[in-house]
Amino acid sequence: MTVRTRIAPSPTGDPHVGTAYVALFNYVFAKQQGGQFLLRIEDTDQTRYRRGSEQAIMDSLRWLGLDWDEGPDKGGPHGPYRQSERKDIYRKYAEELVEKGEAYRCFCTPERLAELRAYQKAAGMPMGYDRRCRNIPPEESKQRAESGEPYVIRIKMPLEGEAVFHDRLRGKITMPWKELDDQILLKSDGFPTYHLANVVDDHLMKITHVIRAEEWISSTPKHVRLYEAFGWEPPEFIHLPLLRNPDKNKSKISKRKNPVSLIYYKETGILPEALRNFLALMGFSMGDDQEKFTLEEMIENFSWDKVSLGSPVFDFQKLLWLNGLYIRELETEEVFRRIKELWLNDEYLLRILPYVHERMKTLGEFADLTTFFLSGELDYRYEGEAMLPKKRTPAETAKMLTTVAEIIDSIDPTEYTREKLESELRKLSEDSGWKTRELFMTIRVAVTGRKASPPLFESMELIGRERTRARLRRAAEFVKTIRR
Ligand code: GLU
Repeated sequence: MTVRTRIAPSPTGDPHVGTAYVALFNYVFAKQQGGQFLLRIEDTDQTRYRRGSEQAIMDSLRWLGLDWDEGPDKGGPHGPYRQSERKDIYRKYAEELVEKGEAYRCFCTPERLAELRAYQKAAGMPMGYDRRCRNIPPEESKQRAESGEPYVIRIKMPLEGEAVFHDRLRGKITMPWKELDDQILLKSDGFPTYHLANVVDDHLMKITHVIRAEEWISSTPKHVRLYEAFGWEPPEFIHLPLLRNPDKNKSKISKRKNPVSLIYYKETGILPEALRNFLALMGFSMGDDQEKFTLEEMIENFSWDKVSLGSPVFDFQKLLWLNGLYIRELETEEVFRRIKELWLNDEYLLRILPYVHERMKTLGEFADLTTFFLSGELDYRYEGEAMLPKKRTPAETAKMLTTVAEIIDSIDPTEYTREKLESELRKLSEDSGWKTRELFMTIRVAVTGRKASPPLFESMELIGRERTRARLRRAAEFVKTIRR
């Protein structure tokens, strides 16, 4: 058997550190076993789709050195590798299950389902579909479909007993079937749900090990049921522990506590080899307390017995420490090359120069006038207090800075331009009652560290979406510490 693993991200936002973490374990295991690692894009949820996301995910995984053997850009024997291009396949398989009596057409209207939900809620009953269409005779069901009545396809879940599956790290996991609804497999618009598409693809793409994050455990019984309904051999399941914030209750990693976008790490000068090593430590141990190791060493030494389930804490300070070790180990020439590549390249310097050109009395001032373009995080100790407007409290200002960070989150990277920033932030000023003068000064100090800088929106564009929003979030923390 050739081991085949996959990472199956949904292009719904920024390339996430969690995706890199799961990709790393999939990659390492496949390579160690002499197998293949695939990239599949799960883009069937049209409402959450974000345009630039797929490309950003691919760029970030490549930057991390986790390249795939088959994928949407490379092709391969089991393509296409983008689910939106496989719609006909899912329909065929959903219909096959209806034919076999394992699934059924459900003609309940959205209105009926809304009423049902309201009723269940009011009566304090368990929520879920009441299976009204489960027993429509096959002939009638077929006729109604042919006459054009809209329907979804649902899987028949067992009504009693329990789902059982084995997880490589957790052992036997069980869940009573009655807690699981008759899941929708195919929506009325012909798009598959995650469950159907995921199982059909893992089967057709010959995935032998499904290695994914813990949050999918509750979906696995549904998948197991699907494998059984199709009569297919399920893959082995391995659910990795979720990355946690370094807070008291170890909450799931979130952008409020840590930047989660891989682009942020790249743009603040974290080395891919250091981030990879750091992510490996989130669960894997080489033994002998060895914390620094290469990807090759991990591949050589990897085994699931060395992966533990404790809640791995994403500790940024530790990442910085590790990154420092890696930097010091590089040849000077190599450090020089990487610094230049990051922000000291001709292209970037030429883009920022026009904004300080007029303000220089000597060429030597260039460096001082442009530090905030060239650095990662800023030091707010000097002018940081200026981000607090006279008439506002620290708490109010922190909230406003967070709101601005959220607005930036909501802007697709492909639309992150000075014009877009200006229109969004002017609108924010109108909606919030903050004068543009106050608001823009607060933002300016947060993203440049200074009261005087080149024009605000241009600066934000040039600093880039990642560093800008990370600075806004850090500034929100800083402003809370100001005492007046
Ligand atoms: N599309 C899912 C995600 O976004 C895939 C989960 C899985 O690996 O099955 O993570």
